[in-house]
Amino acid sequence: MIDLARTITEILKNVLPEGTVALHEPKFSGNEWTYVKECLDTGWVSSVGKFVDRFEAQLAEYTGAKHAIATVNGTAALHVCLRLAGVERDDEVLIPTLTFVATANAVSYCGAVPHFVDSSEITLGVDPDKLKAYLEDTVEIRDGTCFNRATGRRIRALVVMHTFGHPADLDPLLEICRRFGITLVEDAAESLGSFYKGRHTGTLGKLSALSFNGNKIVTTGGGGAILTNDAELARLAKHLTTTAKIPHRWSFTHDKIGYNYRLPNINAALGCAQLEALPGFVERKRGLAEKYKAAFAGLGGIRFFAEPSFARSNYWLNALILEPGNERFRDGLLDATNEAGIMTRPAWTLMHRLEMYEACPKMSDLGIAESIERRLINIPSSASLVDSFSPFTGHTG
Ligand SMILES: *Cc1c(COP(=O)(O)O)cnc(C)c1O
Repeated sequence: MIDLARTITEILKNVLPEGTVALHEPKFSGNEWTYVKECLDTGWVSSVGKFVDRFEAQLAEYTGAKHAIATVNGTAALHVCLRLAGVERDDEVLIPTLTFVATANAVSYCGAVPHFVDSSEITLGVDPDKLKAYLEDTVEIRDGTCFNRATGRRIRALVVMHTFGHPADLDPLLEICRRFGITLVEDAAESLGSFYKGRHTGTLGKLSALSFNGNKIVTTGGGGAILTNDAELARLAKHLTTTAKIPHRWSFTHDKIGYNYRLPNINAALGCAQLEALPGFVERKRGLAEKYKAAFAGLGGIRFFAEPSFARSNYWLNALILEPGNERFRDGLLDATNEAGIMTRPAWTLMHRLEMYEACPKMSDLGIAESIERRLINIPSSASLVDSFSPFTGHTG
C-alpha cells in the first residue's frame, strides 16, 4: 500500500517540474494586461463597454454556437439556462450525482428538485443506457410531457455535465430526451475546448452553461456564459441576465423579475485575452495528458483517465483511477502526493449524499458514480506545466 502511493508520487515527480505544483493555475501571458489596462484607462470597468460584446462574439466563433451571452459566473448561467428550458417550481431535473454542487444548486434556485442519475465509467458523464432503462421503469408520458410516476412531478430537463472536460456521450442522450419529451441542457463549465464527434460541447443541448472561474481552462476572474443556437432564447437570456430592462434612452421599466447576472466589462477584457490563448492552452493540456498517459502506462493497479474514443477533450483536470479493489489506497495516495508538494484531490462528494439533497429522488443504483468517487484522484493540470510545443499533440478530430 505504502509502495503504490510512493511509486505514483515518484512518477508524478518525474513528469512535473520541481517544487510545489498546484492542481490548476491560470496563465496570463498574452493581451490580458493591455485589455484590462484599457478598461481602467477609459473608465469602462462595469456593466457597459465593448469587451462584453467582443467576448461573446469570440465565444460564439470558437464554439460554433450561434449565440453566447456572458454572465457573472457559471452557476448563474446554469440557473438561467434552466429557467429558459422551462423549469418551474416543483418540476424535477435529472442530473448526474457525480458533479460539482453548482449543477444541483441551479436546479434548486428554480424551486425545482434535482433527480440524481448514475454515470458511465467510460465518460464519467451520464450513462445513456442506464438512464434509458431507468426512465422506461420510472416515468410516464402524458400529452408529450414526462412525469415521474412515484412523485407525480413533471421531469422537465436533463443536465449533462462534461466531467473534467471529457464529453458525455451526447447522441444517445439527445435521443432519450427526444423520446421522453425532456429538454437537454449542458453543464459545459469544465469543457470549453472539448469536442464531441467534431462539435463543440455546449452546442448540442438546447442551452448550455460555461464557467470562467479562476480554476477553469480560461478565466475572467469570475464569469460564465450561456450558449444557444436559438435566437429567441438568446434574446431572453440577455434580457433576464440584465434585470429584464426594456431598452430605452432614459426610462427604467422592467417586464419580468430579472437578475443582475451581467459580466462586468473588466472581466470580459480578461476573457478576450484568455480566449486568444485558448487553442494554445488546449494543446499544452493535451500534451501534459500524453505525458501522464505514457508515464502511467506500465503501472498496475491504477490508470490514467483518457478521453472517450468519440471525443477530443481539453483535459481540463487530469484524473487517475484506481482499479476496482484498490479503493483502500486512495487516501494514502492523497496524503503522499500532497505531502510531496503535488496538489491532488478526490472527486466531489456525490450530490445524493449531501445533507440538503439526501431526500431527493434518485436511481436506486448509483453504483458507478459511487465506485468512481472512491477510486478517483485529480492530479496537477495547469497549461503552464508543459512547453507550448509537444510532439504528442496531434489534431485527432
Ligand atoms: C465550475 C463549475 C460550475 C460553476 O461555475 P462558477 O463559475 O464557479 O459558478 C458549474 N458546474 C460545474 C461542473 C463546474 O465545474
